[in-house]
Amino acid sequence: MTDAAAVIQQARTRHRLLLTEVEAKTLLSAHGIPVTPARLAHTQEEAVALAQAIGFPVVLKICSPDIVHKSDVGGVRVGLTSAAAVSQAFAEIMDAVRRARPTATIDGISVQPVAQPGIEVIIGVTSDPHFGATVMFGLGGVLVEVLHDVTFRLVPLSPRDARTMIRDIRGFPLLTGFRGQPAVDLAALEHLLLQISAIAEAHAEIKELDLNPVFASSHGCVAADARIVLYADGEQRPAPRPLSAATRATLDRAFNARAVAVVGDKKAMNYMWLRSQSTFQGKVYSVQIDERELPGIAALGVPNYRSLAEIPEDIDYVMTAVPRQVAPRIIADCAAKRVAGVMLFTSGFSEIGDEEGKQLEHTLAEIARAAGLALIGPNCMGLYYPRRGLRNYPELPAGEAGTVGFIGQSGTHTITFSLAAPQHGLKISKAISFGNAAVLDASDYLDYLAADDETRIIGMYLEGVREGRRFFSLLRQVTPQKPVVIWKGGHNEAGQRAISSHTGSLAVPAAIWHAMVRQAGAIAAENFDELLDVIKLLHFAKPTTGTRVGLIAMTGGPSVVITDAFERAGLQVPLLSESSYQELSSFFTVIGGSFRNPLDSGHTIGMGHSTPNLERLLAILDRDPHIDAIVMDTGAGLVAGQWQAQPHTLATLITTLSGFASRSHKPFLVILQPFAREAALLQVREQFHQQQIATFATHDRAARALRLATDYWRFHAENSNQQIASATKNP
Ligand code: ADP
Ligand code: MG
Repeated sequence: MTDAAAVIQQARTRHRLLLTEVEAKTLLSAHGIPVTPARLAHTQEEAVALAQAIGFPVVLKICSPDIVHKSDVGGVRVGLTSAAAVSQAFAEIMDAVRRARPTATIDGISVQPVAQPGIEVIIGVTSDPHFGATVMFGLGGVLVEVLHDVTFRLVPLSPRDARTMIRDIRGFPLLTGFRGQPAVDLAALEHLLLQISAIAEAHAEIKELDLNPVFASSHGCVAADARIVLYADGEQRPAPRPLSAATRATLDRAFNARAVAVVGDKKAMNYMWLRSQSTFQGKVYSVQIDERELPGIAALGVPNYRSLAEIPEDIDYVMTAVPRQVAPRIIADCAAKRVAGVMLFTSGFSEIGDEEGKQLEHTLAEIARAAGLALIGPNCMGLYYPRRGLRNYPELPAGEAGTVGFIGQSGTHTITFSLAAPQHGLKISKAISFGNAAVLDASDYLDYLAADDETRIIGMYLEGVREGRRFFSLLRQVTPQKPVVIWKGGHNEAGQRAISSHTGSLAVPAAIWHAMVRQAGAIAAENFDELLDVIKLLHFAKPTTGTRVGLIAMTGGPSVVITDAFERAGLQVPLLSESSYQELSSFFTVIGGSFRNPLDSGHTIGMGHSTPNLERLLAILDRDPHIDAIVMDTGAGLVAGQWQAQPHTLATLITTLSGFASRSHKPFLVILQPFAREAALLQVREQFHQQQIATFATHDRAARALRLATDYWRFHAENSNQQIASATKNP
């Protein structure tokens, strides 16, 4: 057994979950972590002898498995410079602690050297009930306590994670030599984070680990205090369950159904489910026993049966809208008929929180699992596969194959995205609304779309995932091949965390979620617009890893604020190259315009209608080595009237821009800001999208989408040479 394992073993036999500073430092030292070594004294004499051996000045601290915060109980004395001071401090600490905590077990008092001075930082490990071990980093003192200026990454950390998590805190400049202080040895700090991640990976028994403080200086870093909390018996880190190939095959059969059945559709719902199948390329059946509903179903031309069993054909996919009490019987019927997938529109299960609902959902799940049935939902809208005409809402388009997949925990968001996407030039490959996820969860659907050849980009709306580790490892595998954009709603409060540590209390789930999305190389969208915008950009625009934009505006005011928007999004608006300016000076009309960057070019390019000059301008930006992406605000608020009056001017503009977009080497974005002409611009927008040009409604939306997409392209460009560490382990 290693020294480290022995420390844990010893704590276990003593039924201790909190390792003292002395024990924790022994474990950390065994792993090569620099600490101020703490040695235990039981008497004043022992303390003095240890201090003399170490050399003055020294630090004395209470050592007790029952005391989490030593200084709170008067248990820490620093900078003791003589034997007499040590002896006195020993007595005072004992006194103070016995008064503050009369029942605490006291191992003794530790004696340790004073750490080399430096900036105090905090490094911690906490365990999320869904995502497992995470490493936290922050600056000590008020920055953590007041500003919560901390970053998280899931274990295992890559060198890139260690690098970025240090640089992501707002207080980072304090580490790089602030006000004449020497800069901290950042390489040593990164190394320490990686070591801590490795310890968390090596010891699955560790629930929390705190190094607070670590003194970081130009000479390296050293942990002056350490604390480790073990999992109680029976508790453990979440382990990823492997995805099942059978689930993929079953979902595939449901999507590619030859025959479907709708159970329990009715007039009160305006036969929504049956009407949705009017475009379905296979056979549609209805199951309904209520006589009053039969004429309505017959009028739709759909054959009706009294049960699934009576349908004289194999059924691949079932949509049901029956009352919740009836649902278990229908699921059992589906199992008996060997249906591949069944979706439950029916709600009133675990989401409403009553006992009966939870019990019913549990029953549904058991029947489905036993039968290998892909149960989608309950409380959802199920599958949408336009190519096969399989719809989950009557107004959705059908017939065309698309490239954008969508997975939504909300029916409304899934349908809304499916309706909105075509208005932005995007076509859906497959969409899934999955609601309560009684059996299949986000990971299963992500796995399915990851392997789906038609799907090139995946959008998601999630409220939480049940198996965070599984989701994370899958996401990491998918994102290098297909961008995944995730819009997360609400906060994941399932599984109340019982974290006693100071750093643990900062581990808000949102921070871990964001760390997870980022580490997996996925894209986090903050709202519906962002989700749609970034997917549109990824779909239409060429990739770049650069963050410098060349901006074209028609007039002065927009030239000013467009720059603000792109800089706000963290992108740069640099000067162009000298040769670009030389070329521009030969034809650019500077009166009423400026040609630095942004190019205030309305005069020069006739508000977009002087084609030769527009083409020259675009070509210059495409060639300019200082520019990575090109954005043009068309001044739509001013020219939309002209476009309406003389449609050929718009057609010429779109042809010019679309030619450029396909020729250019850089992403090209167009802004069609509606201002007062919203209705007129809807049509215009569609024309742009038909010609493969990505348009955005505002400067900020364009800027934000470009930033998110650029982060994605950069992440994967940097990672492409680096084998992605397997996340299937259980760190
Ligand atoms: P606790 O966090 O349990 O209250 P610490 O061991 O962190 O106790 O000690 C409290 C403070 O004392 C630390 O934040 C640090 O500023 C200082 N300190 C502790 N140990 C040392 C040491 N070895 N060298 C220098 N300063 C120390
Ligand atoms: Mg401390």
